[in-house]
Amino acid sequence: SKALTIGLIPADGIGREVIPAARQVLEALPCDIMPSRLSFVDLDAGFEYFQKHGVALPEKTLEALKDSCDGALFGAVSSPSHKVAGYSSPIVGLRKKMDLYANVRPVISGAAATASGEKRAIDMLIIRENTECLYIKEEEQHEGPNGKYATAKRRISEFASRRAGEMAFSMALQRENMRQQVPLAERTWKARPKVTIVHKSNVLSVTDGLWRETVRSVYTGNSEYSSKIDIEEQLVDSMVYRMFREPEAFDVVVAPNMYGDIISDGAAALVGSLGLVPSANVGDNFVVGEPVHGSAPDIAGKNIANPIAAIRSAAMLLERTGYGSAALAIYRAVDKALESGQIKTPDLGGKATTTKVTEAVCKLL
Ligand code: NAD
Ligand code: MN
Repeated sequence: SKALTIGLIPADGIGREVIPAARQVLEALPCDIMPSRLSFVDLDAGFEYFQKHGVALPEKTLEALKDSCDGALFGAVSSPSHKVAGYSSPIVGLRKKMDLYANVRPVISGAAATASGEKRAIDMLIIRENTECLYIKEEEQHEGPNGKYATAKRRISEFASRRAGEMAFSMALQRENMRQQVPLAERTWKARPKVTIVHKSNVLSVTDGLWRETVRSVYTGNSEYSSKIDIEEQLVDSMVYRMFREPEAFDVVVAPNMYGDIISDGAAALVGSLGLVPSANVGDNFVVGEPVHGSAPDIAGKNIANPIAAIRSAAMLLERTGYGSAALAIYRAVDKALESGQIKTPDLGGKATTTKVTEAVCKLL
């Protein structure tokens, strides 16, 4: 039979707990749902690896991804907050080197209670530009008459903005097509599809101005987009405000790299926990599933990390490699497990371990 080869890069902290959990779930998929033979390749990266070997994203890992993998799962990396000579974040490098130009982050309220315990119909899809903005990391420190100062370059290009915009509008239509399959009586959303363009071009008129113009031109330049999708713009600060007040008002949200990063952690709080929110780093030729959360050093090694974000990221990987029904089976199993209310890790107010949640999801498959 066909084979699907997945590179596994747990990296640091709870990445080492949640990536094996995701693998376990993939392996539990029955063969009528997952027709291909699955195989895994264990790959190195991370800050701990850097401390031992002097490199955070080894060439060997990149080669293995390119030569023998159809996609990959990345855990999380413990990037230090101070500058370490020779170190640079492997996930930021991986996104750039594999040209994974969009980070797709669905934030859905579903079965998990929201932070305040109330049920809200949150169903956002955040598209984060993934290759530029401040993450090009061109920083400099200078010596001035009043002491040290530092500057950072922020790159916004037409090329990257257009690709991110294209991803946002095409996914808005895809989502709408899927929504149409839900019976009218059960629809919880109001007018959709809609794409919200996030920027701060009232202040950064050159960089965010180019972003805004370019994303808008993707919309106006395609009659299918402009006839079927609504667009709105939101300055990033008021975006955060509105997102907390009326998160159900958003559908697809497209943002430059750093705003997208910040907004998605905030959105994760609205649906209960960072431990629930998956992502996929998407390029034209490769996809890397990755939970939105970091390495969570405060809970690492205790078997209490919520594996659901990583499990859902594995499903996103399947979805984008042509195994939609296997992905759907995982999404459903996770929802069922959450609905049962029995198997919540501490971030959701429960006492279950990583192992227990993983086993419950596997059983539901
Ligand atoms: P974090 O996402 O690691 O943790 C934030 C909070 O959420 C912590 O209280 C943590 O315990 C909790 N949390 C996160 N994931 C969880 C899960 N699966 N289950 C239960 N609780 C969970 O963010 P941070 O603390 O700001 O950063 C820690 C480290 O992670 C830093 O070194 C940072 O550089 C790194 N980081 C890496 C990535 C990445 O690899 N893509 C992303 C963000 C942060
Ligand atoms: Mn982040």
